[in-house]
Amino acid sequence: MAVEGREAPVADALVMFGITGDLAKKKLFPALYELVGNDTLKGMPIIGVARSEWTADDLRDRARESLAGRDPAQVEKLCAQLDYVQGDYNAPTTFEKLSAALGDAKVPVSFLAIPPSLFDEVVEGLSSAGLTDTGRVVVEKPFGRDHQSAIELNDILHKHLREDQIYRIDHFLGKEPVQNILVFRFANALFEPIWNRHYISNVRITMAESFGIEGRGRFYDPVGAVRDVIQNHLLQVVALLAMEPPASNDAAALRDEKVKVFKAIRPIEPHQTVRGQYTGYLDEDDVAPNSDTETFAAMRFEIDSFRWAGVPFLIRAGKAMAETVTEAVVEFKAPPRLLFADDDHEPRPNTLTFRMKPDDTIHIGLQAKVPGSEMVSSEVDLSVDYEAALGGDSPDAYERLLHDALIGDPRLFARQDGVEEAWRIIEPLLDHPDPVVPYEQGSWGPAEADGVLPGDACWNWSILGRC
Ligand code: NDP
Repeated sequence: MAVEGREAPVADALVMFGITGDLAKKKLFPALYELVGNDTLKGMPIIGVARSEWTADDLRDRARESLAGRDPAQVEKLCAQLDYVQGDYNAPTTFEKLSAALGDAKVPVSFLAIPPSLFDEVVEGLSSAGLTDTGRVVVEKPFGRDHQSAIELNDILHKHLREDQIYRIDHFLGKEPVQNILVFRFANALFEPIWNRHYISNVRITMAESFGIEGRGRFYDPVGAVRDVIQNHLLQVVALLAMEPPASNDAAALRDEKVKVFKAIRPIEPHQTVRGQYTGYLDEDDVAPNSDTETFAAMRFEIDSFRWAGVPFLIRAGKAMAETVTEAVVEFKAPPRLLFADDDHEPRPNTLTFRMKPDDTIHIGLQAKVPGSEMVSSEVDLSVDYEAALGGDSPDAYERLLHDALIGDPRLFARQDGVEEAWRIIEPLLDHPDPVVPYEQGSWGPAEADGVLPGDACWNWSILGRC
């Protein structure tokens, strides 16, 4: 049975490939715990499948370990639903055992928390056991390493699955503040008339992390900032900021509009980009000697549409930076004459900031009169903290996305054409990157990153209140 307004039937079983792995321990057990608590999983079987010689009891122990400190009754409720199928993904018997464990489940949702190199075997195995006819498959990023490998990965999935059965997780899309961008733009009429090239001078997106790669050199060194967060998370934010109003709130309409934004972005060339690497990165474990992997990237590009032609979009992402902050700043054009300026008060243009981390807030930077005898203005901040204003217990991104996959709502998942377009946009940076420039840990990245900014825009005004 489908939920009203959704596009697919509700799941009656959940299969977790990679249940013994790191992602399951850190993110997926906590999400399952919450989904047991709010009855999304309503007693449905949750079957872990992996190679370790575990029993169902071992899996339950892993769940208890991962969920230490939480409500024991709810943990035990989850444990009662857990089962385990041991086997190699290359062995047909693994899928025969899985099929037997699933019994007469009609709509199994299979979550592939496994390296993409194993997708082929798993999807083949699911298909040969008759488990792809009505079920869905959730896949984790990375969706490829470049444009060509993304196409190949999609071909593998499409051998046995229709596009509407594939749910690609970009966990950024499950975050409340990211969803808020869409709601803010299209539930409020206030800003739409000025949301264009006539009133907006530039759009700047920052994802800064104050920590380095934290011992994850084996994962990070072959990847780098552009592949890790720009191709997926930050280009998704660009799409939400720049898309046209969708014809409706359904998945196809939303995703069509996002893909149109990507199609209007020309590939970003190395001369529009600064790549950086924090000092000390080469001493991290599992980083190649002389690695040229970027831990920082800043870039500038435009969207060739009627709405955005000529407006610079800027993205900056980095590790070992001065602060942890994720935000998107929309900067408006200055008034035609600065009537209330003097030597001490150079008015900043108005800004609208979507702060996604460390808090979920929105800030509008306005000019107001400085008290006193002079007619000069200074910036004031109108801000709303969504949680303080609206309360509510925001679901974690994985909880939200697993929930949506179970009820068959694909709106927050990436679609094949969007993924491939996003790779096309950054392909030149992967094919012929400029060398990385060093920057100090705890800084805001290499000074060269200022070179991609237009006019007198500055990266940190909204964060530090100064340039
Ligand atoms: P791990 O290496 O920790 O886990 C891999 C899982 O796959 C294990 O359960 C392993 O089982 C199983 N597995 C591997 N090969 C086989 C095989 N031939 N047959 C049966 N089972 C097999 O990976 P992660 O959990 O870290 O990551 C999983 C995916 O999620 C990756 O694509 C990763 O890029 C992505 N991801 C991970 C994040 C993280 O924080 N870890 C964050 C975002 C994405 P066993 O151990 O029993 O052999």
